[in-house]
Amino acid sequence: MALRQIRVYGDPVLNKVCKEVKEVTPRIKQLIEDMFDTMYDANGVGLAAPQVGILKRICVVDVTYEDPIAMINPKVLETSGEQTGQEGCLSVPGKCGDVTRPNYVKVRYYDTDMKEQIIEGTELLARCILHEIDHLDGKMYTEKVIGELRDVVADESADEGK
Ligand SMILES: [Zn+2]
Repeated sequence: MALRQIRVYGDPVLNKVCKEVKEVTPRIKQLIEDMFDTMYDANGVGLAAPQVGILKRICVVDVTYEDPIAMINPKVLETSGEQTGQEGCLSVPGKCGDVTRPNYVKVRYYDTDMKEQIIEGTELLARCILHEIDHLDGKMYTEKVIGELRDVVADESADEGK
């Protein structure tokens, strides 16, 4: 298990647009493994490569801790509906805020064999996927928060980090 350092708010790497991945090299596979380790260690449900300082279009999500998904070059194909709910980010430790996002998302991505995959998600999964894809475009959820960021109450923190 290898943990990578999570970059925090204010680090310019978090505001850069990431580059597409052309080929899954052993280094990329290692990166993805490390991203899962780092995400689980921090009790997060999603993590994007720029959060560990790598400007590539890769993110990992697992909203149930049973269904790890690594997405390479994800692209949103469709969204619908609307949900407003609490969101947090591993790069903004100890904070959370309310964000409105689509309630449904359909995304095309490539898996670690560079096979094209389609995923559809609603509610938390949709929120998480969209939050991570925003990271790949240098966008933080803090730009979308309605009102003010709040301090996370200790027992809520486990579910809210992305
Ligand atoms: Zn985040």
